Amino acid sequence: MYAPPNSDHQQANAKNARAGMTSTPEQWEDWHWHLRHTIKSIDTVERLLNTTFSPEKRRELEETIARFPMAITPHYFSLIDRENYEEDPVFRQSVPSLSELKIGASEHSDPLAEDQDSPVTGITHRYPDRVLFHVSNLCAMYCRHCTRKRKVGDVDSVPGKKTLAAGLDYIRQTPAIRDVLLSGGDPFLLGDDLIDWLLTELRAIEHVEVIRIGTRTPVVLPQRITPRLVEILKKHHPLWVNTHFNHPREITSRSRRALAMLADAGIPLGNQSVLLAGVNDCPRVIKRLVHKLVANRVRPYYLYQCDLSEGLASFRTPVGKGIEIIESLIGHTSGFAVPTYVIDAPGGGGKIPVMPNYLISWSTNKVVLRNFEGVITTYKEPDSYQPIFCDRNCNDCHLDLPLENTEEQENTIGISGLLADYEEAITLVPENNERMERRDDDE
Ligand SMILES: *Cc1c(COP(=O)(O)O)cnc(C)c1O
Repeated sequence: MYAPPNSDHQQANAKNARAGMTSTPEQWEDWHWHLRHTIKSIDTVERLLNTTFSPEKRRELEETIARFPMAITPHYFSLIDRENYEEDPVFRQSVPSLSELKIGASEHSDPLAEDQDSPVTGITHRYPDRVLFHVSNLCAMYCRHCTRKRKVGDVDSVPGKKTLAAGLDYIRQTPAIRDVLLSGGDPFLLGDDLIDWLLTELRAIEHVEVIRIGTRTPVVLPQRITPRLVEILKKHHPLWVNTHFNHPREITSRSRRALAMLADAGIPLGNQSVLLAGVNDCPRVIKRLVHKLVANRVRPYYLYQCDLSEGLASFRTPVGKGIEIIESLIGHTSGFAVPTYVIDAPGGGGKIPVMPNYLISWSTNKVVLRNFEGVITTYKEPDSYQPIFCDRNCNDCHLDLPLENTEEQENTIGISGLLADYEEAITLVPENNERMERRDDDE
C-alpha cells in the first residue's frame, strides 16, 4: 500500500522534464526548493501542461492573476492529470479562471467579518473561549477557493515578531481563552525557530490548554513536515493539527508519510474540507476522501459550505448538496469518518452545523426517529425522570463537578440560556424590534 518514498518524485520529474523543471531527489525533498520553484506565471503553466492557451484565454488568466495572484508548488502541480487538466480537481483548485472576477451581489471581501471581530491585529475573537490567531500571511499554494482571498499575496501584511507579540499579549491578558488556533496564511510557512518561539510563548500562558494549527502543507507541500519540525511540535503538547484535503487524489504516498510523521508524534490530526463545485461535490468522492483520511489517522472534522467571499461564485454549491453528502455518510460508514457539515455565518455568526433530519416527531413519552435506511422507529422515554433543577449552586449538587479553576460561572448565552433553569430570560429579541420599542415608549 505504501509506495516507495521517491515514486512521487520520479513521476513528477517525468512530467516536468519538458518544462525544464527537473530536480534531484534531494531537491524534491527540500521544501525551500519547492518554494523557490513555485509556479507563478502562465508561461510555466503552459510549459508544464505542454499546451498553448489561446490569446484570449491568456488575457483572461493574466487579468485574473493581476487581481488574485497564482502560486502552485511543484509538488501540488505534479498531481494534475495533464491529459485531462481542465476537469482536474487539482487544476481547478490551483489554476485561476476568469470566473473569479465575476463578483456577485451577495459576496464580500470579508464575509465572515474577521477583521471586525479583531481586538488586535492578527486575532479574531469570536467564540467565548477560543481565538483564531493569524500568524502568517504566507501560503505555499494559493487555493483558488481561499476564503481570505482579500489577503492573498499581500506582502505588506505579513506579521512580524512585533505583531505576533501583540497577539500574544492579548491572549495572555484574556483568561477566558483556553484554545488558540494558529492560522494564516499557513503557520508552517514560518521558519522552525519562529514556530518554536511562538509555541513556547503560548505554552507559557497558563490558561491556554490547547493549541491548534491549521495548515495545508501536508497537501500542497508535504516536504515541509520535516523530522526537525516534528521534534519542535512534540515539545508543545497538547497540540492538534488540522489539515485541508478536498479530494482523494491529493492523498499521495508523500502526503501519507507527512501525516504518519505527525501522528507518530502524538498529534491528533483533523481535516477541514470545503465543498467545491466541480471538485468534490459528489457523495462518492467525499466518501473515498474520508475513508482515505481515517486510514491515515486523520479524523474528518468539518465539511464547509463555500463562503460568500468575492471570487468564489463558481465554486459554490446549493446547501442541499452538502446535506445529500452527509446523508450518504451517516450510518453508511464509520461514525468517526463523518465530518460536521457547517455554514460559516456571513457577518461573523460563526459555524452553524447543518444535517439531515432524523427526528420525525414526538409525543410526551415517545420520540419517532428514522435511520439511514429509512426505517422508522420509536424511542420510549422514561416514565419517571427526576430532573435536576439547576440553580448553579454546584457546591450542593450531587453531580460533584470539581470547581477549582472553572470559568463556567458566567452567564450562558444564546438558546442554551433560554433552556437554563437559572436564567430569567424567556425570549431572545432581535435588536431594533419595532414592537418592543413601542412598549418601551409606553413606559
Ligand atoms: C472556526 C473558528 C474557530 C474554531 O472553531 P471550532 O468550531 O472550535 O473549530 C475559532 N475562531 C474563529 C474565528 C473561527 O472561524
